[in-house]
Amino acid sequence: MVRVERRGKHQLAVLDDGSTLHVHFRMTGDWAMSQRGEALPRFARFVLDLESGASVVLADPRALSTVELLAPGSTPSTQLGPDAVSPEFDAAHLARALARRTIPIKPALLDQRVVAGIGNIYAAEALWLAAIDPRVPASRLRTRDLQRVVRAVNRVLSRGRDGSGRYASSGSARLNVYDREGKRCTRCGTAIARITQSARSTYWCPGCQVNPVLPEARP
Ligand SMILES: [Zn+2]
Repeated sequence: MVRVERRGKHQLAVLDDGSTLHVHFRMTGDWAMSQRGEALPRFARFVLDLESGASVVLADPRALSTVELLAPGSTPSTQLGPDAVSPEFDAAHLARALARRTIPIKPALLDQRVVAGIGNIYAAEALWLAAIDPRVPASRLRTRDLQRVVRAVNRVLSRGRDGSGRYASSGSARLNVYDREGKRCTRCGTAIARITQSARSTYWCPGCQVNPVLPEARP
């Protein structure tokens, strides 16, 4: 194995012959280490035997993870955006990735082709922190709005990432909007609302999360 690159819940391992192993962990997948000849861990789905005698095992209770072997030079079936905590995730990248997207900004942040590693909770929390309405069409946001989004994503992820380097599904960090429908916004006191976008719940504050594209929308 030459190098391993992580993008959100995806991992790209470049092998000696130039081929790439693309692993998507989904909900419950993770690596476990083992020695050759040992009994495999429970829920082992995929085993990679290394020359050292160690084995890397993909364990996944729900068996939702996917493993794809890519020939040298080919790209993953899922085009992956940069990892949300990498320097490549910036306003310029977002502007390019969202230029022709008519979908709202909230589902756009969940699209792994735009950016890898932002889940439903953190997308809602980041847009609250950036004070941006989750329904704004992604392509309408200007550079300064996108800079606010990037800064907010970095802040919520740095608070919520667990020690193993993966994203905690629910961090110990205090949530400002997620799962708080009807409760008061900690910033402006308005009741938190819940809407459905792309079949996922979006929690947001109609009081202080504004549409930055419309100047009259700011209270
Ligand atoms: Zn508010």
